[in-house]
Amino acid sequence: MSNSTSDNTNTFLSDTVRYAVHGNVAVITLDNPPVNGLGDTVRAGIYAGIERAGDDARINAVVLIGAGKGFSGGADIRQFNTPAANAQPTLRAVIARIEASGKPVIAAIHGFALGGGLELALGCHYRIAQSATRLGLPEVSLGLIPGGGGTQRLPRLVGAATALSMIQGGKPVDAQAAQAIGLVDALAQGDLLDEALTFARSCAAKATHPVIGRRSVDAKGLDFNGARTHIRAKARNALAQGVAIDCVEAATRLPFEAGLDEERRQFDALVDGDVSKSLRHLFFAEKEAPRIAGAHRGKQAGIDIQRIGILGAGTMGGGIAMACANAGFPVVLCEREQAALDRGLARMRKNYEITAAKGKLSQDDIEQRLGLITPSLDLNDFADMDLVIEAVFEDIAVKKDVFRQLDAVCKWDAILATNTSRLNIDEIAASIGRPESVIGLHFFSPANVMKLLEVVRGAKTRPDVIAASMDIAQRIGKIPVLVGVCEGFVGNRMLTGYWREAGFLLEEGASPQQVDGALTRFGMAMGPLAMADLAGMDINWATRKRLAPTRPAHLRYSKVADRICERGRFGQKTGAGYYRYEAGSRTPLPDPIVDEIIQACAREAGIARREITDEEIVERCMLALVNEGAQIIDEGIVQRASDIDVIYVNGYGFPATRGGPMFYAQTLGLETTLKKISDLRSKHDEHWKPAPLLERLVAKGAKTF
Ligand code: NAD
Repeated sequence: MSNSTSDNTNTFLSDTVRYAVHGNVAVITLDNPPVNGLGDTVRAGIYAGIERAGDDARINAVVLIGAGKGFSGGADIRQFNTPAANAQPTLRAVIARIEASGKPVIAAIHGFALGGGLELALGCHYRIAQSATRLGLPEVSLGLIPGGGGTQRLPRLVGAATALSMIQGGKPVDAQAAQAIGLVDALAQGDLLDEALTFARSCAAKATHPVIGRRSVDAKGLDFNGARTHIRAKARNALAQGVAIDCVEAATRLPFEAGLDEERRQFDALVDGDVSKSLRHLFFAEKEAPRIAGAHRGKQAGIDIQRIGILGAGTMGGGIAMACANAGFPVVLCEREQAALDRGLARMRKNYEITAAKGKLSQDDIEQRLGLITPSLDLNDFADMDLVIEAVFEDIAVKKDVFRQLDAVCKWDAILATNTSRLNIDEIAASIGRPESVIGLHFFSPANVMKLLEVVRGAKTRPDVIAASMDIAQRIGKIPVLVGVCEGFVGNRMLTGYWREAGFLLEEGASPQQVDGALTRFGMAMGPLAMADLAGMDINWATRKRLAPTRPAHLRYSKVADRICERGRFGQKTGAGYYRYEAGSRTPLPDPIVDEIIQACAREAGIARREITDEEIVERCMLALVNEGAQIIDEGIVQRASDIDVIYVNGYGFPATRGGPMFYAQTLGLETTLKKISDLRSKHDEHWKPAPLLERLVAKGAKTF
């Protein structure tokens, strides 16, 4: 700490900002954990601090510094769309007050200065940063642009081209890079406050102090239209990137204050828009998803997973082994026969080589990761594993047999997990002597890439097994969502209604291309029929056959998918499904045979085919997801509605810009959603019986699930 002698006791300027005097320098400290978010009390405190320093004749410079982990993480995004966000003084007013100060204000930055945090620093006359500091404007990741002058000041300080790449890309730079581009004036090697005080004293001696807003913009080498054409239309931040370009361009042609007005207008429109609201919803939903609530909460510490065993080196087992090795965990990968093991290892190596060819991995990395995976043909090698994940064939008899063997071999406190997609985990657990150690870890394919992990708790799973599973999932880079046992768990269960409507729409007059086209235009990464072809239609066919006895006979059933499967067309793997595929290609091509099957099914069912609009396709497929999702919430299968959104965005290609199916329903309005579902029920049948939860929520005027 500082060795200055004066009255450096802190006084409070507001709940979250302190003031102290060190000799001739006032120190204003932001103290709003966890990240010194610039909420209303922080802004008011800084403003008051600058005023006080201005009024005090002893003071000739001011240092602005953050307590805790960093300088400031930016706006308090929980206050967005609330009155506090726009309470006076706004960030713009705070910065204007700093710029008007005759005494130089120095931002002393450690840890991070992000978003509004960096904008505040840009409003200061000088910036000094500790070396391990990240500085950036990451707003585009939440569908926003900097709204506190960042798009106008950064181009004036570092040049429009560098500024645009920081604002449009959203990636922070470190302090060294920041110094190289002129974003910070000095680096602090030792105690930040001490060095900032020394730096402040040297600044105080100067006659004038730089104010960024008074500089002109250097736009050399920047082609704004070219930058616009490079935005990927499907990127979740595409809208914000476009606005970022508009604002930086505005900085090159408008006077400074007019540029700030323009930035604010654009920022406000984004904050009020559905895209940013959806992205902010997801940001919080993903943070919340791994938290275990209420009854399932147990001892958080307890089982420490170090060694992981994986059974089955097929598509999923191999991907899971890669995910574990990528996170540095040693893995024993066990197969029943050498040939399958060799195939699995070769596939993993090939996948790593593909990544290396893109320059994302070195040969050393590949060897190091593969070196963590120990192949085995002997289940006894699992004796001291802390966690075993089985990924053998999807067959209840095979699974039970494997679990009996694991029960005999594994240590008493090992977690025994299954990667089953649809089988009943309670039934598997009941077949061994320790059902409380059994849990589902439902990875998504490719398991080394996909972020989502459904953690399926059985009726008897111990809370510490759940806690350790949620924890290990995050340590291998996944977003875990805790779900309960039911047919298809959450994600696949919801697909049933989604695919049902897709099949009905085909019979009623749409083509596969039209159904998939409407939904990809809505934003889905892929349409339902192309997705069925990718996943393999035989899996659902088997499920439909298994569930046929429980299917209500009075409800409509489309035979289109069954008829396609009866011809041996299981999707991409057989070169044909809803579409046909040329050898070696994954491009779905329309197939007249499928059109004939669809027409025949419609004739048999007595359906007169008609013109179908894109709106109808989107509405029916989306509302089928929403209605089932509401039922899943009501049954307590998920902990919270937003978990379904996390599952659909991260596992099923749902557009992040729409926030997930449940958030989408909230955007439509729950009342409108219920009305549309009720209308569909009167036009179609009991498939559209509204979820009771939705009816109850609408009856009491609720706006959210
Ligand atoms: P796969 O056929 O590619 O691999 C299964 C592997 O298990 C094979 O290599 C086989 O040799 C091995 N195996 C079978 N019995 C064994 C035994 N007794 N001991 C050791 N190894 C044995 O299958 P997959 O697609 O990887 O699916 C595995 C599991 O993952 C299934 O339960 C499936 O439902 C589930 N799953 C699959 C996906 C997917 O998209 N493929 C997604 C999520 C979950």
